[in-house]
Amino acid sequence: MADSNRTKYIFVTGGVVSALGKGIASASIGLLLQRRGLTVQNIKLDPYLNVDPGTMNPFQHGEVFVLDDGSETDLDLGHYERFLGKSLDKRNNVTTGQIYNTIITRERRGDYLGATVQVIPHVTEEIKSRVRALAKNGKRPDVVIAEIGGTVGDIESLPFLESIRQLRLEEGLENTMFVHLTLVPYISTAGEFKTKPTQHSVKELREIGIQPDMLLCRCSKPISDSLRQKISLFCSVPTRNVAVAPDASTIYEIPLQLHSQQVDQIVCDHFRLDVGDPDLDQWEGIVEKIKNPRRRVKIAICGKYVNLKDAYKSIIESFTHAAVPAEAAVDLIWVSSEEIKHSGPERFLHDVDGLLIPGGFGERGVEGKIESIKYVREHNIPFFGICLGMQCAVIEYARNVCNIENAHSYEFYRDLKHPVIHLMADQEGVTELGGTMRLGAYPCVLTEGTRTHEAYGEIEVSERHRHRYELNNAYRDVLTRHKLIMAGVSPDDRLVEIVEIADHPWFVGVQFHPELKSRPTDPHPLFRDFVQAAVEHSRRRREAAEREKTVDSELTEPTGKLQRS
Ligand code: GLN
Repeated sequence: MADSNRTKYIFVTGGVVSALGKGIASASIGLLLQRRGLTVQNIKLDPYLNVDPGTMNPFQHGEVFVLDDGSETDLDLGHYERFLGKSLDKRNNVTTGQIYNTIITRERRGDYLGATVQVIPHVTEEIKSRVRALAKNGKRPDVVIAEIGGTVGDIESLPFLESIRQLRLEEGLENTMFVHLTLVPYISTAGEFKTKPTQHSVKELREIGIQPDMLLCRCSKPISDSLRQKISLFCSVPTRNVAVAPDASTIYEIPLQLHSQQVDQIVCDHFRLDVGDPDLDQWEGIVEKIKNPRRRVKIAICGKYVNLKDAYKSIIESFTHAAVPAEAAVDLIWVSSEEIKHSGPERFLHDVDGLLIPGGFGERGVEGKIESIKYVREHNIPFFGICLGMQCAVIEYARNVCNIENAHSYEFYRDLKHPVIHLMADQEGVTELGGTMRLGAYPCVLTEGTRTHEAYGEIEVSERHRHRYELNNAYRDVLTRHKLIMAGVSPDDRLVEIVEIADHPWFVGVQFHPELKSRPTDPHPLFRDFVQAAVEHSRRRREAAEREKTVDSELTEPTGKLQRS
Protein backbone atom coordinates (compact mmCIF):
# COMPACT_ATOMS: atom_id res chain seq x y z
CA MET A 1 0.00 0.00 0.00
CA ALA A 2 0.98 3.62 -0.37
CA ASP A 3 3.34 4.76 2.33
CA SER A 4 1.70 8.15 2.49
CA ASN A 5 -1.81 9.34 3.20
CA ARG A 6 -1.86 11.64 0.22
CA THR A 7 -3.23 10.89 -3.19
CA LYS A 8 -0.56 11.01 -5.90
CA TYR A 9 -1.28 12.66 -9.24
CA ILE A 10 0.04 11.62 -12.64
CA PHE A 11 -0.62 14.13 -15.43
CA VAL A 12 -0.45 12.74 -18.95
CA THR A 13 0.05 15.21 -21.79
CA GLY A 14 0.63 14.65 -25.49
CA GLY A 15 2.85 16.39 -28.01
CA VAL A 16 3.72 16.61 -31.71
CA VAL A 17 0.50 15.10 -33.10
CA SER A 18 -2.84 13.88 -31.81
CA ALA A 19 -3.97 10.25 -31.79
CA LEU A 20 -0.76 8.93 -30.21
CA GLY A 21 -2.75 6.90 -27.72
CA LYS A 22 -2.67 9.00 -24.54
CA GLY A 23 -5.83 7.25 -23.39
CA ILE A 24 -4.29 3.81 -23.79
CA ALA A 25 -1.06 4.95 -22.14
CA SER A 26 -3.02 6.39 -19.18
CA ALA A 27 -5.10 3.23 -18.91
CA SER A 28 -1.96 1.06 -19.14
CA ILE A 29 -0.17 2.92 -16.34
CA GLY A 30 -3.39 2.67 -14.32
CA LEU A 31 -3.57 -1.09 -14.85
CA LEU A 32 0.06 -1.62 -13.82
CA LEU A 33 -0.41 0.37 -10.61
CA GLN A 34 -3.72 -1.36 -9.88
CA ARG A 35 -2.07 -4.76 -10.30
CA ARG A 36 0.50 -3.66 -7.72
CA GLY A 37 -2.35 -3.30 -5.26
CA LEU A 38 -2.88 0.46 -5.55
CA THR A 39 -6.29 2.06 -6.03
CA VAL A 40 -6.45 4.22 -9.15
CA GLN A 41 -8.86 6.79 -10.57
CA ASN A 42 -8.53 7.99 -14.17
CA ILE A 43 -9.86 11.33 -15.34
CA LYS A 44 -9.97 12.80 -18.84
CA LEU A 45 -9.83 16.59 -19.21
CA ASP A 46 -11.22 17.57 -22.61
CA PRO A 47 -10.51 21.06 -23.90
CA TYR A 48 -13.56 21.50 -26.15
CA LEU A 49 -16.52 23.76 -25.39
CA ASN A 50 -19.23 21.14 -25.78
CA VAL A 51 -20.57 20.18 -22.37
CA ASP A 52 -20.19 16.56 -23.41
CA PRO A 53 -19.53 14.73 -26.68
CA GLY A 54 -23.19 13.60 -26.87
CA THR A 55 -24.12 16.29 -29.37
CA MET A 56 -21.05 15.78 -31.56
CA ASN A 57 -20.97 13.99 -34.87
CA PRO A 58 -18.99 10.71 -34.70
CA PHE A 59 -16.85 12.08 -37.55
CA GLN A 60 -15.71 14.82 -35.20
CA HIS A 61 -15.30 12.83 -32.08
CA GLY A 62 -15.60 9.08 -32.59
CA GLU A 63 -17.78 7.00 -30.32
CA VAL A 64 -19.70 8.47 -27.40
CA PHE A 65 -19.01 6.27 -24.39
CA VAL A 66 -22.01 6.09 -22.05
CA LEU A 67 -21.48 5.31 -18.36
CA ASP A 68 -23.82 3.61 -15.88
CA ASP A 69 -24.95 6.99 -14.54
CA GLY A 70 -25.97 8.07 -18.04
CA SER A 71 -23.17 10.52 -18.70
CA GLU A 72 -22.04 10.70 -22.30
CA THR A 73 -18.26 10.76 -22.33
CA ASP A 74 -15.09 10.58 -24.37
CA LEU A 75 -14.10 7.21 -25.81
CA ASP A 76 -10.96 7.17 -23.64
CA LEU A 77 -13.24 6.44 -20.70
CA GLY A 78 -13.89 3.15 -22.49
CA HIS A 79 -10.18 2.35 -22.37
CA TYR A 80 -10.02 3.21 -18.67
CA GLU A 81 -12.99 0.96 -17.88
CA ARG A 82 -11.73 -1.89 -20.03
CA PHE A 83 -8.16 -1.85 -18.71
CA LEU A 84 -9.01 -1.29 -15.06
CA GLY A 85 -12.14 -3.44 -15.10
CA LYS A 86 -14.23 -0.92 -13.20
CA SER A 87 -17.14 1.38 -13.88
CA LEU A 88 -16.61 5.11 -13.84
CA ASP A 89 -19.00 8.01 -13.39
CA LYS A 90 -19.48 11.56 -14.60
CA ARG A 91 -16.65 12.90 -12.42
CA ASN A 92 -14.16 11.02 -14.59
CA ASN A 93 -14.65 13.22 -17.68
CA VAL A 94 -14.43 16.99 -17.48
CA THR A 95 -14.76 19.33 -20.45
CA THR A 96 -14.09 23.03 -20.87
CA GLY A 97 -17.82 23.31 -21.61
CA GLN A 98 -18.69 21.95 -18.16
CA ILE A 99 -16.17 24.23 -16.45
CA TYR A 100 -17.52 27.36 -18.16
CA ASN A 101 -21.11 26.26 -17.65
CA THR A 102 -20.49 26.03 -13.89
CA ILE A 103 -18.65 29.33 -13.71
CA ILE A 104 -21.17 31.29 -15.78
CA THR A 105 -24.08 29.88 -13.75
CA ARG A 106 -22.30 30.99 -10.57
CA GLU A 107 -21.55 34.40 -12.01
CA ARG A 108 -25.20 34.95 -12.99
CA ARG A 109 -26.26 34.00 -9.46
CA GLY A 110 -23.89 36.67 -8.14
CA ASP A 111 -21.66 34.20 -6.30
CA TYR A 112 -18.48 36.05 -7.23
CA LEU A 113 -19.48 39.09 -5.20
CA GLY A 114 -18.41 41.72 -7.69
CA ALA A 115 -15.11 40.11 -8.72
CA THR A 116 -13.95 40.09 -12.32
CA VAL A 117 -14.27 36.46 -13.41
CA GLN A 118 -11.10 35.32 -15.19
CA VAL A 119 -9.35 32.27 -16.61
CA ILE A 120 -6.79 32.57 -13.82
CA PRO A 121 -7.83 32.04 -11.07
CA HIS A 122 -11.51 31.11 -11.62
CA VAL A 123 -11.23 28.64 -14.48
CA THR A 124 -8.02 27.07 -13.17
CA GLU A 125 -9.47 26.77 -9.64
CA GLU A 126 -12.52 24.99 -11.04
CA ILE A 127 -10.32 22.60 -13.06
CA LYS A 128 -8.16 21.82 -10.04
CA SER A 129 -11.18 21.25 -7.83
CA ARG A 130 -12.60 18.74 -10.37
CA VAL A 131 -9.31 16.82 -10.38
CA ARG A 132 -9.07 16.89 -6.60
CA ALA A 133 -12.72 15.89 -6.21
CA LEU A 134 -11.70 12.41 -7.33
CA ALA A 135 -9.37 12.19 -4.37
CA LYS A 136 -11.97 13.49 -1.95
CA ASN A 137 -15.33 11.86 -2.60
CA GLY A 138 -15.78 8.26 -1.57
CA LYS A 139 -12.78 6.11 -0.88
CA ARG A 140 -9.56 8.05 -1.41
CA PRO A 141 -7.58 6.56 -4.31
CA ASP A 142 -3.82 6.10 -4.01
CA VAL A 143 -3.26 7.55 -7.47
CA VAL A 144 -5.25 9.84 -9.79
CA ILE A 145 -4.19 9.73 -13.44
CA ALA A 146 -5.33 12.84 -15.30
CA GLU A 147 -5.10 12.83 -19.07
CA ILE A 148 -5.16 16.23 -20.80
CA GLY A 149 -6.90 16.03 -24.17
CA GLY A 150 -5.45 17.70 -27.25
CA THR A 151 -1.81 18.39 -28.08
CA VAL A 152 0.61 20.69 -26.28
CA GLY A 153 0.62 23.99 -28.17
CA ASP A 154 -3.16 24.10 -28.68
CA ILE A 155 -4.65 27.35 -27.44
CA GLU A 156 -7.62 25.63 -25.88
CA SER A 157 -5.67 23.26 -23.63
CA LEU A 158 -3.68 26.08 -21.98
CA PRO A 159 -5.97 26.50 -18.92
CA PHE A 160 -5.63 22.76 -18.22
CA LEU A 161 -1.84 22.87 -18.50
CA GLU A 162 -1.72 25.93 -16.27
CA SER A 163 -3.87 24.08 -13.74
CA ILE A 164 -1.59 21.05 -13.59
CA ARG A 165 1.40 23.35 -13.24
CA GLN A 166 -0.30 24.89 -10.21
CA LEU A 167 -1.25 21.48 -8.86
CA ARG A 168 2.41 20.48 -8.77
CA LEU A 169 3.18 23.57 -6.75
CA GLU A 170 0.35 22.94 -4.33
CA GLU A 171 0.55 19.15 -3.99
CA GLY A 172 4.35 18.94 -4.00
CA LEU A 173 6.97 17.47 -6.27
CA GLU A 174 6.89 14.05 -4.63
CA ASN A 175 3.09 13.79 -5.05
CA THR A 176 2.84 14.78 -8.71
CA MET A 177 4.35 13.42 -11.87
CA PHE A 178 4.29 14.73 -15.45
CA VAL A 179 4.29 12.09 -18.17
CA HIS A 180 4.57 13.35 -21.73
CA LEU A 181 3.66 11.23 -24.73
CA THR A 182 5.49 12.17 -27.89
CA LEU A 183 6.22 10.94 -31.39
CA VAL A 184 9.64 9.87 -32.65
CA PRO A 185 9.04 9.56 -36.40
CA TYR A 186 11.05 7.34 -38.70
CA ILE A 187 12.08 9.19 -41.86
CA SER A 188 12.47 6.47 -44.43
CA THR A 189 14.37 8.60 -46.99
CA ALA A 190 17.01 9.35 -44.35
CA GLY A 191 16.73 5.86 -42.81
CA GLU A 192 16.63 7.47 -39.36
CA PHE A 193 14.43 8.19 -36.38
CA LYS A 194 14.14 11.90 -35.60
CA THR A 195 14.07 13.36 -32.10
CA LYS A 196 13.56 17.02 -33.04
CA PRO A 197 9.73 17.00 -32.75
CA THR A 198 10.10 15.59 -29.22
CA GLN A 199 12.63 18.27 -28.32
CA HIS A 200 10.27 20.96 -29.59
CA SER A 201 7.30 19.54 -27.80
CA VAL A 202 9.17 19.41 -24.48
CA LYS A 203 10.44 22.95 -25.08
CA GLU A 204 6.85 24.07 -25.52
CA LEU A 205 5.86 22.41 -22.24
CA ARG A 206 8.79 24.03 -20.43
CA GLU A 207 7.73 27.45 -21.68
CA ILE A 208 4.53 27.06 -19.71
CA GLY A 209 6.40 25.88 -16.65
CA ILE A 210 6.12 22.12 -16.98
CA GLN A 211 9.22 19.93 -17.03
CA PRO A 212 8.21 16.32 -17.79
CA ASP A 213 9.39 13.62 -15.39
CA MET A 214 8.92 10.85 -17.92
CA LEU A 215 8.63 10.60 -21.70
CA LEU A 216 6.74 7.89 -23.54
CA CYS A 217 8.11 7.89 -27.06
CA ARG A 218 5.71 6.52 -29.65
CA CYS A 219 7.48 5.10 -32.68
CA SER A 220 6.85 2.60 -35.43
CA LYS A 221 9.51 0.20 -34.08
CA PRO A 222 11.89 0.12 -31.10
CA ILE A 223 14.55 2.84 -30.98
CA SER A 224 18.17 2.45 -29.88
CA ASP A 225 19.53 3.25 -26.42
CA SER A 226 21.76 5.94 -27.88
CA LEU A 227 18.70 7.70 -29.24
CA ARG A 228 17.05 7.47 -25.82
CA GLN A 229 20.19 9.02 -24.35
CA LYS A 230 20.02 11.83 -26.87
CA ILE A 231 16.37 12.51 -26.01
CA SER A 232 17.29 12.39 -22.32
CA LEU A 233 20.04 14.96 -22.79
CA PHE A 234 18.00 17.41 -24.83
CA CYS A 235 14.85 17.10 -22.76
CA SER A 236 16.43 16.92 -19.28
CA VAL A 237 14.70 13.64 -18.48
CA PRO A 238 16.83 10.80 -17.00
CA THR A 239 17.49 8.08 -19.62
CA ARG A 240 15.74 5.47 -17.48
CA ASN A 241 12.61 7.64 -17.67
CA VAL A 242 12.63 7.79 -21.47
CA ALA A 243 10.37 4.84 -22.30
CA VAL A 244 9.59 3.61 -25.77
CA ALA A 245 6.15 2.58 -26.95
CA PRO A 246 6.49 1.04 -30.42
CA ASP A 247 3.34 0.17 -32.40
CA ALA A 248 1.87 -3.03 -30.99
CA SER A 249 -0.29 -5.67 -32.66
CA THR A 250 -2.83 -5.31 -29.85
CA ILE A 251 -3.41 -2.40 -27.47
CA TYR A 252 -3.58 -4.88 -24.60
CA GLU A 253 0.14 -5.45 -25.03
CA ILE A 254 1.02 -1.84 -24.15
CA PRO A 255 0.94 -2.36 -20.35
CA LEU A 256 3.36 -5.27 -20.78
CA GLN A 257 5.62 -3.13 -23.00
CA LEU A 258 5.68 -0.39 -20.37
CA HIS A 259 6.25 -2.83 -17.55
CA SER A 260 9.24 -4.39 -19.32
CA GLN A 261 10.80 -0.90 -19.26
CA GLN A 262 9.99 -0.52 -15.55
CA VAL A 263 7.57 2.34 -16.12
CA ASP A 264 5.45 1.32 -13.11
CA GLN A 265 8.58 0.97 -10.96
CA ILE A 266 9.73 4.44 -11.98
CA VAL A 267 6.32 5.84 -10.98
CA CYS A 268 6.44 4.07 -7.61
CA ASP A 269 10.01 5.25 -7.01
CA HIS A 270 9.03 8.82 -7.82
CA PHE A 271 6.12 8.70 -5.37
CA ARG A 272 8.12 6.64 -2.84
CA LEU A 273 5.42 3.99 -2.88
CA ASP A 274 6.67 0.75 -1.45
CA VAL A 275 4.54 -1.82 -3.25
CA GLY A 276 5.28 -5.28 -4.65
CA ASP A 277 5.56 -6.34 -8.28
CA PRO A 278 2.36 -6.31 -10.32
CA ASP A 279 0.53 -9.57 -10.86
CA LEU A 280 0.19 -9.67 -14.64
CA ASP A 281 -0.35 -13.41 -15.20
CA GLN A 282 -4.00 -13.10 -16.25
CA TRP A 283 -3.24 -10.15 -18.54
CA GLU A 284 -0.33 -11.94 -20.17
CA GLY A 285 -2.57 -14.97 -20.77
CA ILE A 286 -5.11 -12.76 -22.55
CA VAL A 287 -2.49 -11.09 -24.76
CA GLU A 288 -1.03 -14.49 -25.57
CA LYS A 289 -4.43 -15.74 -26.76
CA ILE A 290 -5.11 -12.58 -28.78
CA LYS A 291 -1.77 -12.92 -30.54
CA ASN A 292 -2.03 -16.65 -31.23
CA PRO A 293 -5.52 -17.48 -32.46
CA ARG A 294 -6.30 -21.05 -33.48
CA ARG A 295 -8.98 -20.17 -36.01
CA ARG A 296 -10.35 -17.21 -37.94
CA VAL A 297 -13.89 -15.99 -38.47
CA LYS A 298 -15.22 -13.29 -40.72
CA ILE A 299 -17.82 -10.95 -39.29
CA ALA A 300 -19.37 -8.13 -41.28
CA ILE A 301 -20.25 -4.82 -39.66
CA CYS A 302 -22.77 -2.90 -41.67
CA GLY A 303 -23.06 0.72 -40.65
CA LYS A 304 -22.90 4.33 -41.70
CA TYR A 305 -19.38 5.26 -40.53
CA VAL A 306 -17.45 2.29 -41.92
CA ASN A 307 -14.46 4.46 -42.78
CA LEU A 308 -14.22 5.82 -39.28
CA LYS A 309 -13.36 2.96 -36.95
CA ASP A 310 -13.29 5.25 -33.88
CA ALA A 311 -17.08 5.51 -34.17
CA TYR A 312 -17.30 1.80 -33.29
CA LYS A 313 -14.37 1.55 -30.88
CA SER A 314 -16.14 -0.41 -28.13
CA ILE A 315 -17.64 -2.86 -30.61
CA ILE A 316 -14.21 -3.58 -32.08
CA GLU A 317 -12.77 -4.08 -28.59
CA SER A 318 -15.70 -6.32 -27.59
CA PHE A 319 -14.86 -8.61 -30.51
CA THR A 320 -11.24 -8.77 -29.35
CA HIS A 321 -12.43 -9.80 -25.88
CA ALA A 322 -14.96 -12.33 -27.17
CA ALA A 323 -12.36 -13.86 -29.47
CA VAL A 324 -10.23 -14.89 -26.45
CA PRO A 325 -12.50 -17.69 -25.13
CA ALA A 326 -13.18 -18.78 -28.73
CA GLU A 327 -9.42 -18.80 -29.39
CA ALA A 328 -10.27 -17.11 -32.66
CA ALA A 329 -9.21 -14.08 -34.62
CA VAL A 330 -12.22 -12.06 -35.71
CA ASP A 331 -11.67 -10.47 -39.10
CA LEU A 332 -14.06 -7.56 -39.30
CA ILE A 333 -15.38 -6.75 -42.75
CA TRP A 334 -16.73 -3.22 -42.96
CA VAL A 335 -19.68 -2.90 -45.28
CA SER A 336 -21.35 0.37 -46.08
CA SER A 337 -25.11 0.09 -45.70
CA GLU A 338 -25.50 2.41 -48.66
CA GLU A 339 -23.47 0.10 -50.89
CA ILE A 340 -25.69 -2.82 -49.87
CA LYS A 341 -28.68 -0.77 -50.92
CA HIS A 342 -26.94 -0.13 -54.20
CA SER A 343 -25.50 -3.57 -55.07
CA GLY A 344 -27.53 -5.98 -52.91
CA PRO A 345 -26.35 -8.00 -49.88
CA GLU A 346 -25.18 -11.21 -51.64
CA ARG A 347 -21.98 -9.63 -52.94
CA PHE A 348 -20.86 -8.56 -49.46
CA LEU A 349 -22.35 -11.22 -47.21
CA HIS A 350 -22.20 -14.56 -49.06
CA ASP A 351 -19.03 -15.69 -47.27
CA VAL A 352 -19.30 -14.10 -43.82
CA ASP A 353 -19.79 -16.00 -40.56
CA GLY A 354 -21.83 -13.32 -38.89
CA LEU A 355 -23.35 -9.87 -39.34
CA LEU A 356 -23.45 -7.12 -36.74
CA ILE A 357 -25.50 -3.96 -37.21
CA PRO A 358 -24.41 -1.31 -34.71
CA GLY A 359 -26.28 1.63 -33.24
CA GLY A 360 -26.87 4.77 -35.24
CA PHE A 361 -29.06 7.75 -35.96
CA GLY A 362 -30.80 9.00 -39.06
CA GLU A 363 -32.34 7.34 -42.08
CA ARG A 364 -29.28 7.18 -44.34
CA GLY A 365 -28.37 3.57 -45.06
CA VAL A 366 -31.30 2.06 -43.15
CA GLU A 367 -32.81 0.25 -46.16
CA GLY A 368 -29.42 -1.40 -46.83
CA LYS A 369 -29.29 -2.56 -43.23
CA ILE A 370 -32.79 -4.01 -43.48
CA GLU A 371 -31.88 -5.86 -46.68
CA SER A 372 -28.76 -7.30 -45.13
CA ILE A 373 -30.74 -8.54 -42.10
CA LYS A 374 -33.23 -10.26 -44.41
CA TYR A 375 -30.30 -11.95 -46.15
CA VAL A 376 -28.67 -13.33 -42.99
CA ARG A 377 -32.01 -14.36 -41.49
CA GLU A 378 -32.87 -16.34 -44.59
CA HIS A 379 -29.36 -17.79 -45.00
CA ASN A 380 -28.98 -18.82 -41.35
CA ILE A 381 -25.97 -16.58 -40.80
CA PRO A 382 -25.54 -15.45 -37.15
CA PHE A 383 -26.88 -11.95 -36.56
CA PHE A 384 -26.37 -9.44 -33.77
CA GLY A 385 -28.28 -6.15 -33.84
CA ILE A 386 -27.43 -3.36 -31.44
CA CYS A 387 -29.86 -0.49 -30.76
CA LEU A 388 -30.64 0.82 -34.28
CA GLY A 389 -29.54 -2.65 -35.43
CA MET A 390 -32.25 -4.24 -33.30
CA GLN A 391 -34.81 -1.71 -34.51
CA CYS A 392 -33.94 -2.55 -38.14
CA ALA A 393 -34.33 -6.26 -37.34
CA VAL A 394 -37.84 -5.60 -36.01
CA ILE A 395 -38.73 -3.59 -39.12
CA GLU A 396 -37.41 -6.35 -41.36
CA TYR A 397 -39.33 -9.03 -39.45
CA ALA A 398 -42.54 -7.00 -39.51
CA ARG A 399 -42.26 -6.40 -43.25
CA ASN A 400 -41.10 -9.79 -44.47
CA VAL A 401 -42.41 -12.27 -41.93
CA CYS A 402 -45.55 -10.60 -40.57
CA ASN A 403 -46.35 -9.06 -43.97
CA ILE A 404 -46.83 -5.62 -42.52
CA GLU A 405 -46.11 -3.65 -45.62
CA ASN A 406 -44.28 -0.33 -45.15
CA ALA A 407 -43.43 -1.06 -41.53
CA HIS A 408 -40.85 1.54 -40.47
CA SER A 409 -39.51 3.65 -37.63
CA TYR A 410 -41.08 6.87 -36.46
CA GLU A 411 -37.55 8.25 -36.23
CA PHE A 412 -37.45 8.53 -40.02
CA TYR A 413 -41.04 9.24 -41.08
CA ARG A 414 -43.79 10.86 -39.07
CA ASP A 415 -46.93 9.94 -41.05
CA LEU A 416 -46.47 6.18 -40.98
CA LYS A 417 -49.23 3.63 -41.21
CA HIS A 418 -47.12 1.10 -39.32
CA PRO A 419 -44.58 2.68 -36.97
CA VAL A 420 -43.31 -0.60 -35.52
CA ILE A 421 -40.56 1.44 -33.88
CA HIS A 422 -41.97 4.44 -32.02
CA LEU A 423 -40.87 7.32 -29.82
CA MET A 424 -40.64 6.38 -26.13
CA ALA A 425 -43.46 7.94 -24.12
CA ASP A 426 -41.14 10.07 -21.96
CA GLN A 427 -39.46 11.47 -25.08
CA GLU A 428 -42.64 13.25 -26.24
CA GLY A 429 -42.13 17.00 -26.12
CA VAL A 430 -38.36 16.78 -25.62
CA THR A 431 -36.81 19.59 -27.65
CA GLU A 432 -33.25 19.94 -26.33
CA LEU A 433 -30.80 17.48 -27.83
CA GLY A 434 -28.03 17.43 -25.20
CA GLY A 435 -28.29 14.66 -22.60
CA THR A 436 -32.00 14.02 -23.14
CA MET A 437 -32.08 10.47 -24.53
CA ARG A 438 -32.77 7.40 -22.42
CA LEU A 439 -29.24 7.18 -21.10
CA GLY A 440 -27.27 4.89 -18.83
CA ALA A 441 -27.87 1.64 -17.01
CA TYR A 442 -31.34 0.14 -16.73
CA PRO A 443 -32.38 -3.32 -15.53
CA CYS A 444 -33.70 -5.86 -18.00
CA VAL A 445 -35.58 -9.05 -17.16
CA LEU A 446 -34.79 -12.01 -19.40
CA THR A 447 -37.19 -14.65 -20.63
CA GLU A 448 -36.26 -18.07 -19.38
CA GLY A 449 -35.09 -20.59 -21.92
CA THR A 450 -33.97 -18.00 -24.48
CA ARG A 451 -30.52 -17.82 -26.02
CA THR A 452 -29.91 -14.56 -24.21
CA HIS A 453 -30.86 -16.05 -20.87
CA GLU A 454 -28.53 -18.94 -21.56
CA ALA A 455 -25.71 -16.51 -22.46
CA TYR A 456 -26.01 -14.37 -19.32
CA GLY A 457 -26.84 -17.25 -16.97
CA GLU A 458 -29.03 -14.96 -14.86
CA ILE A 459 -32.54 -13.65 -15.05
CA GLU A 460 -32.04 -9.93 -14.43
CA VAL A 461 -29.21 -7.96 -16.00
CA SER A 462 -28.20 -4.32 -16.21
CA GLU A 463 -27.16 -2.73 -19.49
CA ARG A 464 -26.41 0.78 -20.75
CA HIS A 465 -28.71 2.63 -23.14
CA ARG A 466 -28.63 5.58 -25.51
CA HIS A 467 -31.80 5.94 -27.56
CA ARG A 468 -35.13 7.72 -28.01
CA TYR A 469 -37.12 5.09 -29.89
CA GLU A 470 -38.36 1.63 -28.93
CA LEU A 471 -40.34 -1.33 -30.22
CA ASN A 472 -43.95 -0.18 -30.48
CA ASN A 473 -45.99 -2.25 -27.99
CA ALA A 474 -49.00 -2.15 -30.34
CA TYR A 475 -47.10 -4.60 -32.58
CA ARG A 476 -45.87 -6.91 -29.84
CA ASP A 477 -48.71 -9.41 -30.33
CA VAL A 478 -48.42 -9.76 -34.06
CA LEU A 479 -44.63 -10.08 -33.88
CA THR A 480 -44.89 -12.71 -31.13
CA ARG A 481 -47.54 -14.62 -33.08
CA HIS A 482 -45.04 -14.81 -35.93
CA LYS A 483 -42.44 -16.20 -33.52
CA LEU A 484 -40.29 -13.20 -32.83
CA ILE A 485 -39.34 -13.80 -29.20
CA MET A 486 -39.39 -10.94 -26.72
CA ALA A 487 -36.35 -12.25 -24.85
CA GLY A 488 -35.88 -9.32 -22.47
CA VAL A 489 -38.10 -6.52 -21.19
CA SER A 490 -37.90 -3.71 -18.64
CA PRO A 491 -39.05 -4.86 -15.17
CA ASP A 492 -42.39 -3.01 -15.66
CA ASP A 493 -42.80 -4.82 -19.01
CA ARG A 494 -43.25 -1.53 -20.86
CA LEU A 495 -40.11 -1.64 -22.99
CA VAL A 496 -38.88 -4.51 -25.12
CA GLU A 497 -35.10 -4.66 -24.70
CA ILE A 498 -34.22 -7.90 -26.55
CA VAL A 499 -35.68 -9.82 -29.48
CA GLU A 500 -34.62 -13.25 -30.73
CA ILE A 501 -35.53 -15.80 -33.35
CA ALA A 502 -35.52 -19.41 -32.14
CA ASP A 503 -35.50 -21.05 -35.54
CA HIS A 504 -32.09 -19.71 -36.54
CA PRO A 505 -28.49 -20.51 -35.50
CA TRP A 506 -28.12 -17.19 -33.62
CA PHE A 507 -30.28 -14.13 -34.17
CA VAL A 508 -30.37 -11.56 -31.34
CA GLY A 509 -31.24 -7.86 -31.31
CA VAL A 510 -30.74 -5.68 -28.23
CA GLN A 511 -31.99 -2.18 -27.56
CA PHE A 512 -29.00 -1.44 -25.30
CA HIS A 513 -25.26 -1.24 -25.93
CA PRO A 514 -23.57 -4.40 -24.64
CA GLU A 515 -20.25 -3.24 -26.11
CA LEU A 516 -19.97 -0.64 -23.34
CA LYS A 517 -19.61 -3.28 -20.68
CA SER A 518 -17.28 -5.81 -22.28
CA ARG A 519 -13.80 -6.15 -20.83
CA PRO A 520 -10.77 -8.23 -21.77
CA THR A 521 -10.95 -9.98 -18.41
CA ASP A 522 -14.72 -10.41 -18.71
CA PRO A 523 -15.99 -10.59 -22.30
CA HIS A 524 -19.64 -9.68 -22.75
CA PRO A 525 -21.76 -12.87 -22.80
CA LEU A 526 -23.65 -11.86 -25.96
CA PHE A 527 -20.50 -10.99 -27.91
CA ARG A 528 -18.93 -14.20 -26.59
CA ASP A 529 -21.84 -16.35 -27.81
CA PHE A 530 -22.15 -14.46 -31.09
CA VAL A 531 -18.47 -15.11 -31.88
CA GLN A 532 -18.93 -18.75 -30.86
CA ALA A 533 -21.92 -18.98 -33.24
CA ALA A 534 -19.71 -17.46 -35.96
CA VAL A 535 -17.02 -20.09 -35.27
CA GLU A 536 -19.64 -22.80 -35.70
CA HIS A 537 -20.94 -21.17 -38.86
CA SER A 538 -17.44 -21.05 -40.33
CA ARG A 539 -16.99 -24.76 -39.51
CA ARG A 540 -20.29 -25.54 -41.29
CA ARG A 541 -19.19 -23.39 -44.22
CA ARG A 542 -15.88 -25.25 -44.48
CA GLU A 543 -17.58 -28.63 -44.27
CA ALA A 544 -20.04 -27.67 -46.99
CA ALA A 545 -17.16 -26.51 -49.20
CA GLU A 546 -15.36 -29.83 -48.58
CA ARG A 547 -18.49 -31.77 -49.51
CA GLU A 548 -18.88 -29.73 -52.66
CA LYS A 549 -15.27 -30.39 -53.59
CA THR A 550 -15.75 -34.14 -53.14
CA VAL A 551 -18.86 -34.11 -55.28
CA ASP A 552 -17.05 -32.04 -57.91
CA SER A 553 -14.05 -34.34 -58.04
CA GLU A 554 -16.29 -37.42 -58.24
CA LEU A 555 -18.05 -35.85 -61.16
CA THR A 556 -14.83 -34.95 -62.94
CA GLU A 557 -13.02 -38.23 -62.13
CA PRO A 558 -13.45 -39.95 -65.56
CA THR A 559 -12.06 -36.88 -67.37
CA GLY A 560 -9.21 -36.74 -64.87
CA LYS A 561 -8.33 -40.37 -65.61
CA LEU A 562 -8.40 -39.72 -69.29
CA GLN A 563 -6.09 -36.74 -68.94
CA ARG A 564 -3.63 -38.75 -66.85
CA SER A 565 -3.34 -41.58 -69.38
N1 GLN B 1 -31.70 6.23 -33.41
C1 GLN B 1 -32.22 5.20 -32.56
C2 GLN B 1 -32.90 5.75 -31.33
O1 GLN B 1 -32.67 6.89 -30.95
C3 GLN B 1 -31.14 4.24 -32.16
C4 GLN B 1 -30.11 4.85 -31.28
C5 GLN B 1 -28.85 4.05 -31.20
O2 GLN B 1 -28.62 3.17 -32.03
N2 GLN B 1 -28.00 4.36 -30.24
O3 GLN B 1 -33.68 5.07 -30.71
